[in-house]
Amino acid sequence: MSAAASTTGNEPMNPQLMTLMELQDLRAQHKALSGGETGLMEEETERFNIDLEEAREHLEETIEELEGRLSESVLRRYRILAPSRDRIVVPVIRGVCYGCFVSIPTATAGEQDIHQSLRSCQNCGCFIYVASST
Ligand SMILES: [Zn+2]
Repeated sequence: MSAAASTTGNEPMNPQLMTLMELQDLRAQHKALSGGETGLMEEETERFNIDLEEAREHLEETIEELEGRLSESVLRRYRILAPSRDRIVVPVIRGVCYGCFVSIPTATAGEQDIHQSLRSCQNCGCFIYVASST
């Protein structure tokens, strides 16, 4: 597992948050496979001889597996967010939630355990992580 979580500083990221980021990534991939700009995809599948249907199934399986790793309360919120949003995890930069661009006064960089506790924006409901600008 790699590219999804690249924003951490030195602190370890909350494992649930990392799972959510992976899910976000996989869902975007799934969406790309499922419709919209298929022109390019079809070309690619011909070239690499990929069964698109099978690829999509594997994605769905992986998504389900990852969802199974979420705690009950996180999963509940995820299920509310996921159908209506592309992004379920958003950064907070300089105290502003990048899901809704409302400032979150409590999410300051100096706060302790910021990466350990999974938090969400009270305005838009997205899971948030603090992206430090240092
Ligand atoms: Zn927000």
